[in-house]
Amino acid sequence: MVCTRCGIEKAWSDAELAGMRKHGGPPLPAGICIRCVFKDPQLKAELESWGDARMKQLIRDARELAVRPLEAIDRFVESFR
Ligand SMILES: [Zn+2]
Repeated sequence: MVCTRCGIEKAWSDAELAGMRKHGGPPLPAGICIRCVFKDPQLKAELESWGDARMKQLIRDARELAVRPLEAIDRFVESFR
């Protein structure tokens, strides 16, 4: 599905997020892409409080996320499969 905020980036459905959480994935909201999550102070704080090592890696990769978001997001999702 496409992000309901920006209408550009890929976002995840409830079903996809449930699958990710089963594998220890992040507390992402349904229908909002990772870029919009980072733009929202409350959602960003929730994601950061997740505290998983993979999240810390993602935050370190934020520079790459801004430059090549689709590749970075694909890798991020792949890491939960
Ligand atoms: Zn978005």
